[in-house]
Amino acid sequence: MYSFFNGRIIITKGDITEEKTEAIVNAANSTLMGGGGVDGAIHKKGGPQILEECKKLRKNQYPEGLPTGNAVITSAGNLKAKYVIHTVGPIFKLDPTPDESLIQCYYHSLKIARENNIKSISFPSISTGAYGFPKDRAARLVAKFLENYIKNYNTPEIIKLIFYSLDDLKIFLEKSNWKKEEV
Ligand code: ADP
Repeated sequence: MYSFFNGRIIITKGDITEEKTEAIVNAANSTLMGGGGVDGAIHKKGGPQILEECKKLRKNQYPEGLPTGNAVITSAGNLKAKYVIHTVGPIFKLDPTPDESLIQCYYHSLKIARENNIKSISFPSISTGAYGFPKDRAARLVAKFLENYIKNYNTPEIIKLIFYSLDDLKIFLEKSNWKKEEV
């Protein structure tokens, strides 16, 4: 586990479904009906309540699906977190502006977190799995965005980035070039 910026950002290897932060972010797809990777793991471990709430959101707010870069919030069912914030990352090869879309995911997820008074949030590495976003490029973009974010906002107090593998975590550490703190 690595800490940065006076503990405001934590980077760790792990399974996001085990996170105890108040909110976890789901790398969802626009259907909000579940899928593979992070999405599948969250719905499987969180149970049917999350899907029920996603169905309602689709029916009442997003009949055509949640657009790329947007985010919505549900409860977290049986998970340790209290909320799941679902965001739709860009499909790297199909999105005309994948960099902007990826940052929109982080921006909108954090905005919903603030609106709900959420104090801690965990992100997976959005779009870098099935959606094919290059990991080094995502690392550079996300690091720059988050560094700027914490200068401008005091909440959520804690932002965790959860990497599924040590290799992915190392890519982020290298590309962010942030100064590590003792923990
Ligand atoms: P996307 O479709 O947005 O690319 P994926 O779920 O396929 O989303 O992958 C996003 C990233 O999350 C990948 O780097 C993948 O290795 C990682 N990942 C997969 N399962 C988990 C998990 N349970 N916890 C944390 N990260 C995960």
